[in-house]
Formats: sequence, structure tokens, C-alpha cells
Amino acid sequence: MKIKYYGTSAAEGIPALFCDCDTCRYSREKGGRNIRTRSQALIDDFLLIDLCPDTLYHVQRMGLELHKIQHLLITHAHSDHLIASDLLEKQDGHAHSDNMMPITIYGSMPTIDKIFSTIHSNTHINSGRWILQEILPFIPISIQDYTVVPYKANHAFELNSYIYDISSKDKRMLYAHDTGFFLEEVWLFLEREKPFFNFVSLDCTVALSKVCNHHMNIEACKEVRQKLISLGCADSSTTFVLHHFSHNCGASYDDLYPIAKECGFEISYDGMEIEF
Ligand SMILES: [Zn+2]
Ligand SMILES: [Zn+2]
Ligand SMILES: [Zn+2]
Repeated sequence: MKIKYYGTSAAEGIPALFCDCDTCRYSREKGGRNIRTRSQALIDDFLLIDLCPDTLYHVQRMGLELHKIQHLLITHAHSDHLIASDLLEKQDGHAHSDNMMPITIYGSMPTIDKIFSTIHSNTHINSGRWILQEILPFIPISIQDYTVVPYKANHAFELNSYIYDISSKDKRMLYAHDTGFFLEEVWLFLEREKPFFNFVSLDCTVALSKVCNHHMNIEACKEVRQKLISLGCADSSTTFVLHHFSHNCGASYDDLYPIAKECGFEISYDGMEIEF
């Protein structure tokens, strides 16, 4: 399997719009991997995760071929993960193709509700271009030859936020954004089902700062990794990537890289591609 990270920041981006904190100032000056757009990732060139506010930038500047995407998983309806109005750009007259295929969008009911009300507030729209599919926690669904299991995230409970277990025939990955330390019911599921992950992408929004309720720092990510290994869900062959950084995390990419490397973690950056 392969993952490409188009964007890797939390809601504000790095540098953030109006911010002149140390991390934003350093990142603005140094550029390169220190610049982070909002989080979005593509699995095996076909399964897109989240429709962030920087999707247009990812299309225009980073080669994301959104017109080819037929499957879109949404983690939750926070505005750094879902700009529902961007879906309206697929409507007749805004998007053209000789072979226009619908896009199926998967998410929890609050996610689906938000998209439904956005699309249907424009009553003239031909709705055949979007298929909305509610998915339920811990119930697997098939998308082409892949299986996706949504787990409840420790994040924005009113939005029924999900993290995603995605597997192909021989590989399995966990995309854990946004979430704090995993919920007890997730650990129980993992203990019972014993999935083995070749790749794990962990929420590290607050990296070097104090851990907060619904996001993790590096120390919490270490605990998650340790617990996954002790349950047999990962081992030394598993690639762990820290991802979804806030400028409030106390570190730029340049600061984080050596710290994470010492702990055996990879650090995501915009444009990073990993095969596992
Ligand atoms: Zn987020
Ligand atoms: Zn800042
Ligand atoms: Zn969120």
C-alpha cells in the first residue's frame, strides 16, 4: 500500500494566517518542509481522506487529480477536514468530463448531514454526481478490493468523529486523525480482533506541548505505539508516522525531525509519500 500526504497541519496551517509565533516565523523564513497546509491524504491513488480547505491548492500545485477520485472518506466535520461547499464544484457546469463518475463520500451521520444540507440547499443541482454513505463505528465496509473499519475517535464526540483502519489483501494501515489517546472501546476492539498494522499515522497535533483532551503529543503517541505492540497489533516492522501538527505544538518540522527520529517515528510533511 501507499499513502501520499498532501497536507499535514491542524486547522490553522503553518505558518498560520495572522500568526507571528516562533514556529510560524521560523517556518515562514525557512520554507520547505516547515510549510504545512491542512491535512489530506490519498491511499493507493484512489481513496482520498478528507476534503480540507487547501484541497484546491493540492489540486493546483501538488498534482492531486481530484477529478479522478470516486471514493472520499471523511474523518469528521471540523472545517479543517471538510469544506462541504467544495463538493458543489462537481456540479454540472462547474466540472466537465467525457466520463463523469459520481464520487461516493463516506462518514458518520453528522458528516453526511452537513454534506447533504450543503448540496440540497442548491436545489437545481443534479444530485447524481454525489453518493452519500453513512458508515457506523466498528462495522467494516468494502470499497473496491479494500476493507475500511471506522473506529470511534477520542475527538469532537458531537460529530461522531472516526479514525480509519484500511486494509488491502495483504497490508493494513491505521489513519488516526483527529484523536486523543484511543478510547477504551477501541482498545477492546483491537484486543479482540488483533489486526496487524503495517503502517500507523498518529495524531501529534500538540507534539512538544502539553497533551490536551482530544489531540496527542509525542509522549502520548509513544504510549499508543507501545500499547499497539503489546497487543500484537504492530511490531518493529510497523512504520509509525506523526502527523497533523498545530503551530501551537512548539516545533517546526526542522525541530521535530531529530526528536522524532530518536524515538523511531517518521514526521509527515506536505508531499510525503510512503510505501509499506
Ligand atoms: Zn484537525
Ligand atoms: Zn503561529
Ligand atoms: Zn478535529
